[in-house]
Amino acid sequence: MEEGLPLLGSPLPSPVFWKAEVELVTHPSPRQPSERASPRPVFLMELVHPRDREHTLAVLREVAADGRARRCLHRSAATNGGSRWCLTSIRAIRDESGRIQELAGVTQPMRGPLFAGEEFQQHESGLRQLLAQVPAFLYLTDRELRFIATAGSELAGPGLELEGRPLLDVLGAGEEPSSMLAAHRHALGGEPARYDTEWSHRTFEVRVEPAFDEEGTCTGTLGIAIDVTEQRREEEELRTSAERLRTLLETTSDSIYLKDGEGRWLEANDTGLQLFQLSRAGYQGLTDLELARRNDFFREALIACYASDQRTWDAGKPTRMEEIISQPGESPRVIDVTKVPLFHPNGERKGLVVLGRDITRRRMAEQERDRLLHQEKEARAAAEEARRRSEFLSSASRVLADSLDYDATLATVARLGLPVLGEWCAVDLVGEDLHVARVATAHAESSKEPSARPLEECVPDLEKPGGIAEVIRNRRPFVLSVQPGEEGMLALCDHERSHLETVRELGLRSWLSVPLVARGRTMGALTFASVRPDRYRSEDVMLTGDLAWRAALALDNARLYRESQQAIQARDEFLSIASHELRTPITALRLGIQRLFRIARGGAEPPWKTVAASLDGVERQGKRLTLLIDSLLDVSRLQSHHIQLDLEEVDLSGVVRDVVAQLGSVLARTHTPLSLRADTPVVGQWDRVRLEQIVTNLLDNAIKYGAQAPIEVTVALENGAAVLTLRDRGIGISPERMPFIFGRFERAVSSRHYGGLGLGLYIVRQIVELHGGTIQVESSPGKGSTFTVRLPRG
Ligand code: ADP
Repeated sequence: MEEGLPLLGSPLPSPVFWKAEVELVTHPSPRQPSERASPRPVFLMELVHPRDREHTLAVLREVAADGRARRCLHRSAATNGGSRWCLTSIRAIRDESGRIQELAGVTQPMRGPLFAGEEFQQHESGLRQLLAQVPAFLYLTDRELRFIATAGSELAGPGLELEGRPLLDVLGAGEEPSSMLAAHRHALGGEPARYDTEWSHRTFEVRVEPAFDEEGTCTGTLGIAIDVTEQRREEEELRTSAERLRTLLETTSDSIYLKDGEGRWLEANDTGLQLFQLSRAGYQGLTDLELARRNDFFREALIACYASDQRTWDAGKPTRMEEIISQPGESPRVIDVTKVPLFHPNGERKGLVVLGRDITRRRMAEQERDRLLHQEKEARAAAEEARRRSEFLSSASRVLADSLDYDATLATVARLGLPVLGEWCAVDLVGEDLHVARVATAHAESSKEPSARPLEECVPDLEKPGGIAEVIRNRRPFVLSVQPGEEGMLALCDHERSHLETVRELGLRSWLSVPLVARGRTMGALTFASVRPDRYRSEDVMLTGDLAWRAALALDNARLYRESQQAIQARDEFLSIASHELRTPITALRLGIQRLFRIARGGAEPPWKTVAASLDGVERQGKRLTLLIDSLLDVSRLQSHHIQLDLEEVDLSGVVRDVVAQLGSVLARTHTPLSLRADTPVVGQWDRVRLEQIVTNLLDNAIKYGAQAPIEVTVALENGAAVLTLRDRGIGISPERMPFIFGRFERAVSSRHYGGLGLGLYIVRQIVELHGGTIQVESSPGKGSTFTVRLPRG
């Protein structure tokens, strides 16, 4: 077989060109050398080391089969003592029909350190495989830069015959050859060089080294062109994607930070840097804490970032949080931050991606929206409150208008505000005597009314400070919220500690008291209490004030109505009494006059004694009528304040003696003994006629109600004041009627048994008081009465 492969050209170590028929390779026939062999045949196989022959033949067959050029590395047959490494390039030669007829090639001994080393020889097959796989084009040139040998030339396109052709023709085609030439010249000068070139639309990185022979002379260049098209494309893609990434980082309005596993800042976009006012130069490689040390203003924020980074690392998964970062001269920014931790497969920290979205505006908008929402809610609540209020008040007004009965109105007022305004309510009214009375109380739960009863006794005292008394005195509402049983509550409990117990039991904690004012007059107070602490707000005070105003008006109306009813009743009573009282003297008067008529018509000598007695009766009844009419006149004058005192120096003792003398006949007729002690003159500045009126009225009563028992009258001087005392031992006055006897038309006896208009004591008291004096009575039924008049003398 070896003999069948003729070689052309000079024997090794110079390049040997050869040609061989395909048949010799595909159907080797060792005994029949080709007819068409060259006249000076050189057999390729003779040049190939026996160990490499099989492998070389396999390559030849592959070229014969598919026509693609190939290279084959083999050792030369050891003809002159040592074997050398050779590179054989094989290509196919086709006839006109395209059939592969022959194989041609060049076998080139390899020179230089690459092929010389012992190591290489040891790894020859590895290298062979490597060369077959590496997308590289190896070539060897002579000093004229002509290809001597090539490997991997199919990278430049299949089927190219390169050996013997000038490097420039092949590699420099269509290229600016200067860099290539420069590199090769450099290599020829003994220095390795490299350059990039485009070749057949691919990019090659070419490394050129000098090639030496055994003597160390540079015989040419050894070039390795590595196809770096993919690498360059990848690099380009990488560069493009890096640029895209940067563009992305810069075009986004979010802040982006990339940190390594140690928390050092690797990259941040402009938005991210601006947030901390960092410059592009001064942040890379620093941690949050290191940056915090250099940046006073953002120190806190950066430390906070560090802390939240740690939390993200600990969580081991993306975390989201809101961070507020102050800005110099601006309002702080609210950042919605997402932190994504990255880990190595072994769990070590790899890096941290921090994304921050400025949501300040959104937050502000949200706050504004919340504020508006809140406002709207409040407005709606206020409208609702106003509606409820007006409903409550109008229903209260309806209820209050329902009755003119005073007691019923009081009970209504106490119930009206429950439970809307609390759990407990009290109505306190100021009486004529300026004492407060708790006139009504109510509890929202009827079951608790018994427990609340002690509070009915808890009447405010106008003399004491604070609480309801203060509300009445100042006409101002009072709100209190305390722990049950606290000292502050005492004012509401009439300063009675025992009532605190009740308050505690009922759990009342908030108090609201408002004045009851009607027609400019303070009538008292309306008080609510609630179990809720801090129950009463300003709107409750207003509502309760409105309710109190309506309640006070209703109460005042009921009072006026009651008074007018009482006045009507009193008037009717008075009219019946007055008519009775007036008729009695008139009847007596008429009887006396009729008797006198009869005497006059009798024609005989009149019985003068009878005439005198009748005239006496007429005179008496006339006086009585005058007195009655005077009393009526006095009452109306006193009421309209038309009484004027005519003050002069008057001796009270003298006045009393005169009156007793005037009433002498009455005392005699009624068989009433009277003792008088008015010996010393008691002089003062008084109205004489009115003084006589006082003494007459009091003595009249003593005779009338004295049951003919002895009457004692004394006039004395006590502490510089004149004191008149009238004591009888008559029927006396029942204690219940005592408070009323000085009132108009007030009587403590039946008109059937005793005549009288019920005006005497009223007039007496008015006159005494006009003089600046006082009148008192002590009495017990069946034992008599003592009236004491004290008059200042000045
Ligand atoms: P009158 O005597 O016309 O009824 P007064 O105003 O003088 O009216 O007296 C009012 C009431 O006071 C009398 O109706 C009577 O009940 C009672 N009263 C007055 N003086 C005495 C007295 N000395 N003893 C008992 N009752 C008296």
